[in-house]
Amino acid sequence: MSDRLWKKNIRFVEPYTPGEQPEDKNVIKLNTNENPYGVSPEMIKAAESFDYDLFRRYPDPTAKELVSALADYYNLKPENVFVGVGSDDVLGMCFMTFFNSDKPILFPDITYSFYPVWAEMLRIPYETKALKEDFTIDIKDYLVPNGGIVIPNPNAPTSILLDKNSIREILDNNKASIVIIDEAYIDFAEEGSSVLDLIGEYDNLIVVRTYSKSRSLAGLRIGYAMADSRLIKYLNDVKYSYNSYTMNYPSIKLGSSVISDDEYFKTSVGKIKATREWFSKELTSLGFTVLESSANFVFASPADGTAENIFEEAKKSGIYFRYFKSPRIDDYLRITIGKDDEMKKVIEFLKDFLTK
Ligand SMILES: *Cc1c(COP(=O)(O)O)cnc(C)c1O
Repeated sequence: MSDRLWKKNIRFVEPYTPGEQPEDKNVIKLNTNENPYGVSPEMIKAAESFDYDLFRRYPDPTAKELVSALADYYNLKPENVFVGVGSDDVLGMCFMTFFNSDKPILFPDITYSFYPVWAEMLRIPYETKALKEDFTIDIKDYLVPNGGIVIPNPNAPTSILLDKNSIREILDNNKASIVIIDEAYIDFAEEGSSVLDLIGEYDNLIVVRTYSKSRSLAGLRIGYAMADSRLIKYLNDVKYSYNSYTMNYPSIKLGSSVISDDEYFKTSVGKIKATREWFSKELTSLGFTVLESSANFVFASPADGTAENIFEEAKKSGIYFRYFKSPRIDDYLRITIGKDDEMKKVIEFLKDFLTK
C-alpha cells in the first residue's frame, strides 16, 4: 500500500494487549485475574429494579449515587472520590491530568503493561526502574527528580506487596510529584496494607482501585480514585473536557448496590486467599518457585525452564494461564486463583505434564 500524505498526522500507537477472552465457557480461565465467585445477590436485586425509563435519559454526569456509596464505605467525603469506566479509565485520566512535566514519570520495569502505553500515547516522558533480583521494588530508585510516580501495590504480574513504610518514604521524598498507587489487588493483601488512610496526610497521593478483581465485576467496568479533594477536582475537570458521561445508569445503580453487601465481598475474598495459600504450597511441592503473593494470582516458575511450554500445553487442555515473553519473566506463569476444584485440576494437569 502506498504511503498516503495524511499518514504523517496520525497518532500511531502500540496498543496494550488484553488477556484472551475465549468463547468456550468450559475452559478453566486463569489468565485475566477475574474473580471466580459470582456477583452479590444485592446486585441482582438492584438489577431487577431498573427503571427502564431512565435508559432514555443521559445518566447523572457526577455519578453521585456511586461516588457517595464509595465515600461512605471508606469514610471519606464525596469530594475525595472519582469514578471511571474501570480503573484503566481512571488511570488513563490520571496520566492525562497529572503527568505533564518535562521530567520523566517513573514506574517499575516489570509492572502493569498499560503504563508505558498511556505514556507513549500521551507523549509523557517515562523511565522504568528495574526491580531487584528478587522482583521487589528498590525504593531508592524513586527518590530522584521525576515528573510523577505510578506503582501498583501489590505489583502485577509479580504479586509482591510493597510495605506501607516504603511507600511513606517515597511520598516523603516526592512532595513535588503526584504519586499514584494502583491498588487493583490490595483487597487480597493482608489487612492494613493499603495506603488509603494516608490521603489525608499527603495531598500528592492518589489511590486507585477497581471492581474488576476483588468485587468480581470486571464486566461492569468500574474503577475509582481516592485523593485530596483538589486532585479529584482536577481529574473531574479533565473528565468533563473529554467525556462527561463516562458512567452509565446500570453501572451507577449496580455499582452502588454491591457496596452494602460487605459480607458477601469479604467471604469471596477470604475463599480466594485460602485457595491461594493451598495452591502455592502445591506448586512449590511440584518444584515451582512461587513468589509470595498478596494478590488473587500467583507468579510462578517451573523447575526446568518450561513455562512457555506449560502455557501452550495447558491451553490445549482448556486451561488458560497468562504468559509474558519478556526479559526476566519469560520463565514465569501468571496463574489466577480460581475455585478450589479448578485449581485441583490445574495441579493434576501439572503433575501429568511434569511426569511425561
Ligand atoms: C486489572 C488491572 C487494572 C485495570 O482494571 P480495570 O478492569 O480496568 O478496572 C489496573 N491496574 C492493574 C495493576 C491491574 O491488574
